[in-house]
Amino acid sequence: MEDFGFGSRLIVVVARASTRRVAQDRLHATGDFAVSTPEGFLVYAVAATAIAVDVLFSHKPSYILPQNVEGYPATKEFLMKVVDILLDYIKAENDRGTKVLEFHHPNDLMQLLDLELPDNGLTLQQLLLDCSTTLKYQVKTGHPHYFNQLSCGLDVVSMAGEWLTATANTNMFTYEIAPVFILMEHVVLEKMRELIGWNTGDSILAPGGSISNLYAFLAARHKMFPQYKVRGLAAVGGQLVMFTSDQCHYSVKSCASVCGLGTDNCVMVPSDAAGRIIPSKLEELILERKAMGHIPFFVNATAGTTVIGAFDPIPQIADICQKYNLWLHVDAAWGGGLLLSKKYRHPRLSGIERADSVTWNPHKLMGALLQCSTIHFKEDGLLISCNQMSAEYLFMTDKLYDVQYDTGDKVIQCGRHNDIFKLWLQWRAKGTDGFEKLMDRLMELTEYMVKRIKQMSDKFYLILEPELVNVCFWYLPTRVRNMPHTSEREKILGEICPILKGRMMQSGTLMVGYQPDDRRPNFFRNIISSAAVTEADIDFLLAEMDRLGHDL
Ligand SMILES: *Cc1c(COP(=O)(O)O)cnc(C)c1O
Repeated sequence: MEDFGFGSRLIVVVARASTRRVAQDRLHATGDFAVSTPEGFLVYAVAATAIAVDVLFSHKPSYILPQNVEGYPATKEFLMKVVDILLDYIKAENDRGTKVLEFHHPNDLMQLLDLELPDNGLTLQQLLLDCSTTLKYQVKTGHPHYFNQLSCGLDVVSMAGEWLTATANTNMFTYEIAPVFILMEHVVLEKMRELIGWNTGDSILAPGGSISNLYAFLAARHKMFPQYKVRGLAAVGGQLVMFTSDQCHYSVKSCASVCGLGTDNCVMVPSDAAGRIIPSKLEELILERKAMGHIPFFVNATAGTTVIGAFDPIPQIADICQKYNLWLHVDAAWGGGLLLSKKYRHPRLSGIERADSVTWNPHKLMGALLQCSTIHFKEDGLLISCNQMSAEYLFMTDKLYDVQYDTGDKVIQCGRHNDIFKLWLQWRAKGTDGFEKLMDRLMELTEYMVKRIKQMSDKFYLILEPELVNVCFWYLPTRVRNMPHTSEREKILGEICPILKGRMMQSGTLMVGYQPDDRRPNFFRNIISSAAVTEADIDFLLAEMDRLGHDL
């Protein structure tokens, strides 16, 4: 036994090769090291404390709190080990030398994992192994070379908030059981409404932008037909119609299906080449539906479309809504973050204060942890009057405190997850100025990428000038570089997208998404929404696509 001078003694153990797997598993979980000798022996060293831990962790979870009242030391050891595993993951995720993913097909992954639910509970040691194995095969969405989704990156402060949220483990329906978090919601949502440009109104956090859009739909219908809540369809006495652009998020159309309009009555208004709704077409289609005796009631404008990042012209749409007395909803789930930037807010989000409702997802551009989505209303009182069911076992009116703070009756859920603390803590860390800097930085990196693509126009083809952090482009393999850019070449470029994406995933070095749209076959859509990304990462991305795809 030798003292290695960093507080814990190291014990060198020589084991037979047959026990090697077990030993290695243990070492993996405890973070110690091992070497194998040419004779087939495994020499491994473990901290003296780790030996004790090892014994401890041969126990079942009933050995720790809450079942074992004496179990605090073991509980602490166990949780510290879990945190070690999480920290190792965060460290690896931020190391550009590690892979973004280790891809396996579902059947192979099933073989690599032990997902069985046993009849008899497993040991704490096994649970730690389960935690590290789970993260081993998880796609590293916070890796600087992950550009695949609108939510990229891992904001460590927001994550700390999520850890606290998990520990507090409360439900957001009443002030009674979530007093601090309810007050935080008030403060943060009021600040967000202020950024939209309202000094009144009401808001709520919803499980995702799709549900936020649904809340807007419900409130709009309630505003126009207050009797709908009680009498249903009979209160409307006609065909309700909603309008949105052909570039909108599919959740808008889903409102028509979920709420009984039918998707035929979600009218898809054409967009221009930049992906923005054409206001004159919107007006034409409203008049067309009115002439058919239908009842237009709701228009959705998208601020930051999901695929190309376009901003619908809100002022013109607001004029039309005013003229025909229609509810204006702005789906800023994606682009809402730019409300924080003086530089980019106008003209993109100009006129948003004229909306009746706004969806804004902090879990996208602002980098709050999943999930964090908000829906805001200009008129106070609508949410509660639309959704209130007055469940007597939760929302008693004779409580100790002002029951206006019980938010649970404003929503169509019962239980509601605490999505506020991680955003509040992140906002405290950054300040509003810090968020503005982050938005400006993401836009700056996007401009850098566009510049590099233009400089390498032999290898990349920029499809349109981005308004947001979505960069839409094709990669040009060697064989098409001298072809004129016709629909024939676009067809070839579309066909190579899934193959190149497949190569990215097999090599594990990069993830960028692709999709077709109404105008063109498959193309790549790169997203820069992670604070981890630098100019060098953009250069890596372009070089790596070329390395993987030049021979296609
Ligand atoms: C992502 C997105 C949504 C849906 O948000 P979820 O949180 O994924 O449900 C809605 N609208 C737009 C424009 C989006 O980009």
